[in-house]
Amino acid sequence: NDLILDVKDLEVSFSTYAGEVQAVRGVSFDLHKGEALAIVGESGCGKSVTAQTIMRLIPMPPGNIKKGQILFDGDKDLAKLSDKDMEHIRGYEMGMIFQDPMTSLNPTMTVGKQIAESLVKHQKLSQKAAIEQAVEMLKLVGIPSPESRVKQYPHELSGGMRQRVMIALALACRPKLLIADEPTTALDVTIQAQIIDLMQDLQKKLGMSIIIITHDLGVVANIAQRVVVMYAGKVVEVGKVDDVFYNSKHPYTWGLLASMPRLDQSADEPLMPIEGTPPDLFAPPVGCAFAARCAYAMDICKKIDPELTEIGKGHAAACWLTHPMAPEVSRPVAKEV
Ligand code: SF4
Ligand code: MG
Repeated sequence: NDLILDVKDLEVSFSTYAGEVQAVRGVSFDLHKGEALAIVGESGCGKSVTAQTIMRLIPMPPGNIKKGQILFDGDKDLAKLSDKDMEHIRGYEMGMIFQDPMTSLNPTMTVGKQIAESLVKHQKLSQKAAIEQAVEMLKLVGIPSPESRVKQYPHELSGGMRQRVMIALALACRPKLLIADEPTTALDVTIQAQIIDLMQDLQKKLGMSIIIITHDLGVVANIAQRVVVMYAGKVVEVGKVDDVFYNSKHPYTWGLLASMPRLDQSADEPLMPIEGTPPDLFAPPVGCAFAARCAYAMDICKKIDPELTEIGKGHAAACWLTHPMAPEVSRPVAKEV
């Protein structure tokens, strides 16, 4: 089995005073060992909730894993593991980096102590060996003069340095899987590029698998081999980066590509936001969730939700335009992009 992660039909909801939000509605995807997968989509599409559910970081309640499996490294189902077993997995086998390093760094502890603490706890190193290892980790993530940096507090470091420290912290236990949720969003462009280079480099060196959640297609192209496109809590398209970027089949993906900055785009090419808003996930629509915003919507789209179906090798979309069971008569010609 060369899968590190196999997510099957995952459903996650949150109870609120206003009712139940169906944040993740039957998401399936897998991740191979050593592979980097990007999850893209507008805010509120369920990408962060999916990642947090894999890490079991959603508060339960109000969060609830209603259905599905999250098979990690074989047959461990993270959806059903006890909190205690899950804590062990988060410490030893998974690392996570977030948009804002200050939320996961402890402001009252030097960065060296924080990395060392995790090593003492999870790798049973002595305090002295752990500090030495922390210096090595800071070196690994490209922090200059790590011997003096270990003694500093998070607020004494720049945003880019803090993000490097957070990566060092996430990697201290040598995770099999690294989950990065918008890891570069809060950083300026040059620092972003450095962090992306660093992640690529570390992936090669350490051979880990990565899930990266981002709204930046440049980041996707640089890091990921495959992309999952999510809309309204579902996967609407999945495939190799080239297939999804240059041969996308779902109208939502077309809209997303036109609305996001990309590498091969010149500055004077305007970005085109997708008109309309995503549906209310308190009461998800019947039929395709994108129908209200889709220029190609047909009668069937408003009645039956198309399943994700394979349209090429490793490339799948959930759209009646490409669905093999689509009624021929109502099928318009798909736009070439
Ligand atoms: Fe548009 Fe219909 Fe495809 Fe949904 S199923 S994206 S409404 S064409
Ligand atoms: Mg998010």
